[in-house]
Amino acid sequence: MHKFSRRLFLSLSENRFLAAAARKWGLSLGASKVVSGESLESAIAAVRSLNETGIAGTITHLGEFNTNKSEADQAAAVCIQAVEKIAESAVDCHLSIKLTQIGLGIDLATCLHHLKDITKAAHKHGIFLQIDMESFFYYESILYCLQQLRREFDNVGTVVQASLHRAEDDVRGMQDLHLRLVKGAYKEAPDYAFQTREEIDENFFKLIQLHVASNGYTAIATHDHNIIEKVKLFTSSHHISIANFEFQLLYGFREELQKQLVEEGYRVRAYIPFGSDWYGYFMRRLAERPQNITFALKGFFSK
Ligand SMILES: Cc1cc2nc3c(=O)[nH]c(=O)nc-3n(C[C@H](O)[C@H](O)[C@H](O)COP(=O)(O)OP(=O)(O)OC[C@H]3O[C@@H](n4cnc5c(N)ncnc54)[C@H](O)[C@@H]3O)c2cc1C
Repeated sequence: MHKFSRRLFLSLSENRFLAAAARKWGLSLGASKVVSGESLESAIAAVRSLNETGIAGTITHLGEFNTNKSEADQAAAVCIQAVEKIAESAVDCHLSIKLTQIGLGIDLATCLHHLKDITKAAHKHGIFLQIDMESFFYYESILYCLQQLRREFDNVGTVVQASLHRAEDDVRGMQDLHLRLVKGAYKEAPDYAFQTREEIDENFFKLIQLHVASNGYTAIATHDHNIIEKVKLFTSSHHISIANFEFQLLYGFREELQKQLVEEGYRVRAYIPFGSDWYGYFMRRLAERPQNITFALKGFFSK
């Protein structure tokens, strides 16, 4: 049943017609519980209120798969505005971006051009830029872009998905980087990705152990309390400083757990999306956990 709903929501997440319709409906159907709002201001307001409770933020402008140059140019301009706004507001916040939003699906040169401008603006203000990892089709190009940026900038990192067979080798090759580790949100082929939850969970914890013990900084992005408990045990028994890693959770998800982690002294950062292009993001969350439908409906009816 879970496999069926996962496939269904993942295929819905890629439906361009529904995505366009969703843009018109606005933040309905419960999406407003997990998206801060349509404007950059709404994201900054969400960060500010989370900062007051000890939770840091990483904001992200929703939207991906731009195949039109002017859309990619516009999206890049919003990322630069976001950086300026974070700096001006003096909030504790990073920026997360998806490269297909700024032209990766058009051509590498357009994407790199925008990415350099955004990283430069972020660097000027000491703001960290996390490049989200997308479907495997873009994996190599995303790592290539990161490599290019790292020649000039140190305020940039990316994400490794435990679902991929090659993840362990990649983490070993990025021991000194600021990495976000995740299970992986996309349905990938068995040729290069694990297919069962057990295999992915096992690999996820293996990657976490590898990277928290390295010179890099590790963001462990999960809502899985079992993994979080294992991380706490591993880091304390190996005397790994809590300054070497943080837990990341999505905005609006498991808020009690976020609070509890802060109370226990761990660093916590919420991934806070904003913008009108919420449809694909929202469908992927439903694919991950069908129970999020109940959560979404509660949000819808309590509006
Ligand atoms: C901050 C952040 C950034 C991310 N960035 C990326 C990225 O760049 N690229 C990418 O591919 N993926 C990304 N992801 C998504 C990630 O890959 C997973 O798809 C997603 O986090 C679901 O996996 P999970 O580890 O949270 O646990 P799951 O495997 O979904 O859940 C494990 C168990 O945890 C419990 N649980 C989970 N969610 C809840 C809940 N809401 N309430 C109560 N219990 C719950 C349940 O018991 C569940 O069985 C990101 C996730 C986060 C949190």
